[in-house]
Parts: sequence; structure tokens; C-alpha cells
Amino acid sequence: MVGRTLAGMRVLVFLDGTVADPETAHIRVDDLGLLRGDGIFETVLAADGKLRELGRHLDRLERSAAMLDLPAPDRAAWERAIGTLLERWPSDRECAVKLVYTRGPEGTGMPTAFVLGQEIPEKVLRQRVDGIAVVTLERGFGPDVAERAPWLLLGAKSLSYAVNMAALREAERRGADDVLFTAADGSVLEGPTATVVITEGRTLRTPPANIGILPGTTQGGLFGWAERAGWSVKVEPLTVPELRAADAVLLLSSLRRVTRVHTIDGEGLPDSTEVHRELVSLYESLY
Ligand code: PLP
Repeated sequence: MVGRTLAGMRVLVFLDGTVADPETAHIRVDDLGLLRGDGIFETVLAADGKLRELGRHLDRLERSAAMLDLPAPDRAAWERAIGTLLERWPSDRECAVKLVYTRGPEGTGMPTAFVLGQEIPEKVLRQRVDGIAVVTLERGFGPDVAERAPWLLLGAKSLSYAVNMAALREAERRGADDVLFTAADGSVLEGPTATVVITEGRTLRTPPANIGILPGTTQGGLFGWAERAGWSVKVEPLTVPELRAADAVLLLSSLRRVTRVHTIDGEGLPDSTEVHRELVSLYESLY
């Protein structure tokens, strides 16, 4: 069943393979994903009928599930449900394939699991081309907290994204498109829905996941390929002054792909269109 709303086309498939109407209600009001944001998700890009970095996404889904003590995801069932969805999606149109896995209705011990196909938001498509302005916003804790306090679930892709969404609204209030979170010591973490990568000469650099950020599937894919193409890659802490001194600052995620940052906290960065173009074509050659 394919739904069409103002938001565009949608396809919904539950993990058991049931194809359902995306425009009607299916989730119980006592679902803990709804009541407490107690669940996890992934957003996978399908382009030209092919899924990008599915293996890395399913690996991360498994890691997130383990961090939240959810039953281990059945990878084959997720792959089947995604396949069913893509059979109903036009292969010439990009699809944001959202995998949602919650603890389910209170007291039942029965997780809720579905995949939802949606179109890529216009804004994201525009930003891929035009680049973005970001603001730095503090997340308030140190880079060592993820290892000291695993119950904070830093590094799990949990459904509790209200803070991330609030940060994006703050960016909008400040006239920017997106956010770079910083830790209490000033080091750069990630965006609310993206990985930060810089280029310095022929080196790509991103902060390490153990400082309490998500390991990005787009970053992982790009770094592997870039190394083979002669770039060197570094995974090490990053500061805001280092961002300003970089040749290019990029935000990477499955939907935005490789997006160029042109402004930080209202200050323009040096023109990085050339290196951005090179990395976009490297990214495209991956698939
Ligand atoms: N960091 C956060 C907090 C995210 O939510 C995301 C993706 O949504 C990313 C990084 C980038 O991950 P990926 O490249 O796997 O989409």
C-alpha cells in the first residue's frame, strides 16, 4: 500500500512483512516508544533502487539495541521488510528508509518494529547543493562521559531526539541551518543528525565515537573509500579553531550525503567548493 500526503509518498511495512496504510494509525497509545522515546531507529538512503551502507546501519541497529537492552534485531527480517518496501518504491526516486524499533506497548514485552519509506525533504536536497550555515552549541558534558556513564546512551541511535530537534530550532532562531555540538572542554562532537568531517590538505579527519557520538555510516563508508583513493584519514579529537583553519568543513549523514559548511557562528569559511565537489564524486563512486 502506498500513501500520498502533502509530505509526499510513503510506504509502511511491519517487520513481519505486513504492508500497511501509512496514513492510518497502527501504534498503541501505550507504546513505550511513544510514551518515553524508548526505542531506536536508523535512516538508510536508497538511491537508484540500491541501499547505501545497509550493513553498517544494521550493525549500528544491533549496537543500539544492545545498549538499550532490547532483543537483538533479526537482521534477515529487517532486510526482508526493507526489500518489500523497495519493491513498492519507484527506483528512480531516492527513498529515506526509516527503521523503527521500540520496546512496544507497556508490559507486553513485544517490541514494535517497522520500516517507513519517505521522500527526501526538499530542504535537504537544497542544502546538498548550496551548503549550510551552522552554529556551535554546547551539549554540556565532557568527552569522557560516554564511557563513564553508559546509561546516558550516548552513541546509541535512540528515539529520544527531542534535544537534537530543540538544538535545530535554536539554530534556526540564530539564522543558521544546522548545529555543531561541542563538549564541556570545547571539543567538537557532531551535529544533531550528522557527523562532522574536515579536510586538511589530503587528510580527512573526524572525532572518535568514544567521546559520546554516533559512529556515522556515511563517514565510515567515505573514509574507507577515500583511503583507497589516496587520501589519509584521521579519527581524533577536533576543536572549533581547527574547524576554522580547515580547508573544508563537512556534515555527513545518510540523507544529506556530503554537505559543505560555509559559515560557522555567522563567520564565513574559506571557499571549499572544489574539495567538496571532489568528495561528492568520490562518495558517488562508492555506489
Ligand atoms: N550523528 C547523529 C546524532 C545522527 O543522528 C546521524 C544520523 O542521523 C549521524 C551522526 C550520521 O549518521 P549516518 O551517516 O549513519 O546517517
